[in-house]
Amino acid sequence: MYVLKIHHLRKTWISDALCVLEICRYPLGMTGGQIQDEDISASSQWSESTAARFGRLDFDNGDGDGAWCPDVASEPDGLKEYLQVDLRSLHFVTLVGTQGRHADGMGKEYAQRYRVQYSRDGSSWVGWKDRKGRQVIEGNRNTYDVVLKDLEPPIIARFVRFLPVTDLSQFVCMRVELYGCEWLDGLMSYSIPEGHQMIYRGLDVFFNDSVYDGVSADRSEFTGLGQLTDGTWGLDDFLHSHVYAMWPGYDYVGWSNKSFPKGYVEIFFEFDHVRNFTSMKVHCSNMFSRGVKLFRQVTCFFRSGSEWEADPVTFRPAEDRVTQASRFVAVPLGDRTASAIKCRFHFSDLWMLFSEVAFQSGLKPHMLLTLSLVVLGEDPTHKVDDSNTRILIGCLVAIIAILFTIIVIILWRQVWQKMLEKASRRMLDDELTARLAVQTRAFSSHHSSLSSECGSTSNSTYERIFPLCADYQEPSRLIRKLPEFAQSTEHLDGAPHYAEADIISLQESSDNSSNSITAASMTLFSSTDSSMREFPRQKLTFKEKLGEGQFGEVHLCEADGMQDFLDEDLSIEGTNESPLLVAVKTLREDANKNARNDFLKEIRIMSRLRDPNIVRLLAVCVDTDPLCMITEYMENGDLNQFLFVENTKETSQHLIGMAVQIASGMKYLSSLNFVHRDLATRNCLVGRNFTIKIADFGMSRNLYRGDYYRIQGRAVLPIRWMSWESILLGKFTMASDVWAFGVTLWEILTLCEEQPYSQLSDEQVIENTGEFFRDHGKQVYLPKPPCCPDKVYTELMLSCWRRNAKQRPSFQEIHAQLNESLA
Ligand code: AMP
Repeated sequence: MYVLKIHHLRKTWISDALCVLEICRYPLGMTGGQIQDEDISASSQWSESTAARFGRLDFDNGDGDGAWCPDVASEPDGLKEYLQVDLRSLHFVTLVGTQGRHADGMGKEYAQRYRVQYSRDGSSWVGWKDRKGRQVIEGNRNTYDVVLKDLEPPIIARFVRFLPVTDLSQFVCMRVELYGCEWLDGLMSYSIPEGHQMIYRGLDVFFNDSVYDGVSADRSEFTGLGQLTDGTWGLDDFLHSHVYAMWPGYDYVGWSNKSFPKGYVEIFFEFDHVRNFTSMKVHCSNMFSRGVKLFRQVTCFFRSGSEWEADPVTFRPAEDRVTQASRFVAVPLGDRTASAIKCRFHFSDLWMLFSEVAFQSGLKPHMLLTLSLVVLGEDPTHKVDDSNTRILIGCLVAIIAILFTIIVIILWRQVWQKMLEKASRRMLDDELTARLAVQTRAFSSHHSSLSSECGSTSNSTYERIFPLCADYQEPSRLIRKLPEFAQSTEHLDGAPHYAEADIISLQESSDNSSNSITAASMTLFSSTDSSMREFPRQKLTFKEKLGEGQFGEVHLCEADGMQDFLDEDLSIEGTNESPLLVAVKTLREDANKNARNDFLKEIRIMSRLRDPNIVRLLAVCVDTDPLCMITEYMENGDLNQFLFVENTKETSQHLIGMAVQIASGMKYLSSLNFVHRDLATRNCLVGRNFTIKIADFGMSRNLYRGDYYRIQGRAVLPIRWMSWESILLGKFTMASDVWAFGVTLWEILTLCEEQPYSQLSDEQVIENTGEFFRDHGKQVYLPKPPCCPDKVYTELMLSCWRRNAKQRPSFQEIHAQLNESLA
């Protein structure tokens, strides 16, 4: 399946941070054999036939016994026995995979849990920890399945060790693979002053380097790598983070000007070899409205031997007082040669925040020759005479030509294989979609007036939103592992099945019901449609950025004359302010046609909804680009961030009250036969006095990417909130919204401190839905949150997750029940 190992990924300066982590996940050669036997070692082995070299993922034959097994049971804390892989050079490792010993059904051993250690130099070792400080990774549950685990944060190392963790009664065996790409920056470590803490409007914002793997002393950090090289760079708004449920400021390392009398912060970078440096890129925040700006000037000093060279390079980036977006600043380094660089970054405001630093360099020419000699088995310190040099150069040219040919062949095979893979995936998709489509067609035939609308929605909303990125699990494969499901013709309640792709068209088309939304035949901006009036965009004044989604940004604006502009029906109760504060969601100007259609579709859906617990669309600006929708402003932002940040006693008293409001909004939607299909705290907004309104009718969130699961490299689904039938059958109904409500209620009562099923990987969540389908009592439910009343958990939350959709409560019942527990 994987053929090519791609290097130089970091050198492409990919503009989307997460894509580095998503693309850089190539198997590093345990399975494919690129890692040599002699580079795989272990603390011990049970027998010659279970030596380290047999610890390759998917290895199950040859002269070995199917895996690496240590000669004694591992220590409970997993600190003694290990399997070690030497990658021969620094690598950026983003993912690890493990398997037990299968040996054609003879094996019984596998590691249920393990730790990972790594080293860049082979002598000092660091224990890997996730972003929350946990070291133990959940491993295998049987001897054959491969369990993949994302390393978040990723590791930069040459040596990686796997240390099984067991109770002493168990024997373990392991097969492993590492995934990532080569780390061509060559940066071995950076040393920085410790990051500072900012108090922003009473909120503690921490700019420490929370994943730094070096040592701390005297308010400085030495000899490690961390957030500045973790491949994730910060959002424009430093209060928010790419990473789920982390504290404000998490993405950045930052310093306050006050603590540096000399007016600069010095960072020291140490590299693996002497290199020729062309540039350094520093990702910085420029949120000047909060006292943060790009650095004013940077001066870099270079060292190849023991002395710093006298002539530093100085660079001044252009000041930007217009755009607050975070950005990479490229600092030209003038092809200077060094193995260490120290840079002094001068403040231009109260704060300086960095989230990533990367270097572009080549090896020094004499290094290339030296390395070539080493490759050819020569001692580079010996003087080489002219004729030898000519032979060597000839050899080198020949080797380069051979390598080039091999690369072309591999690339060609890769493209060919990708095409085959794509074709086979499409067949798998088509298989499922065709089954679903038969049902949908039957339904659609009653609604022929929809034909053009339905035709245009044949792609999934999520599929359009997210770019094609690395795929490493296929749910259809997982689904095929559920044999009962593959054979089953069970349809829950005889209603038509429809793919997620069909939901919008179906919702828009359900005009057979008296209450349903009849948007399908409506022209978007017809004169009769008074609810979508065009607001003069020059009357909007930008105040601040509230957030950003995949399609664009959301801004707080003053809307001059908005109250007069609104119909009585739309006017916002309790406020006569003029100008009125509104939230303006703007479609990015470079958005493609599909994104544009989805944006217009969201407008169309929202314009039809009127309920105190549904966020109101007030007006639109669609006569020219960029397209905007103007909604009421909810001053406390989204519920997920709100609960996580406002974790106070007062908030805890309002949790059930907030859930009641969501249930009420959903009751209204269900009265319209409207399926939301993405109910979650991240998609609810909080106004004054704990008012909650449901939002997000048709778009996915950038900020919460971790909540969505990527299928086959394209579709993205919020699997942790989805019912088993939505995942396995593509069926979205009011009852699946009820399931999602149960999860949302759980999030509320845990104050959004963790993601649902945080201990399960995406693949395990899908396996768990298989257990719901099988119904053998092995399915795992979300646990009762500590502050959740027993009755709410047993009578309400668990009932939302009943296997039989018909037995789940309606939103009317949920609303009544929650109201009762409030009383
Ligand atoms: P969205 O792209 O709609 O998910 O919005 C991104 C972020 O912008 C949300 O997570 C909120 O923090 C913020 N936001 C969106 N709409 C509003 C609103 N009407 N009032 C206040 N904040 C909002």
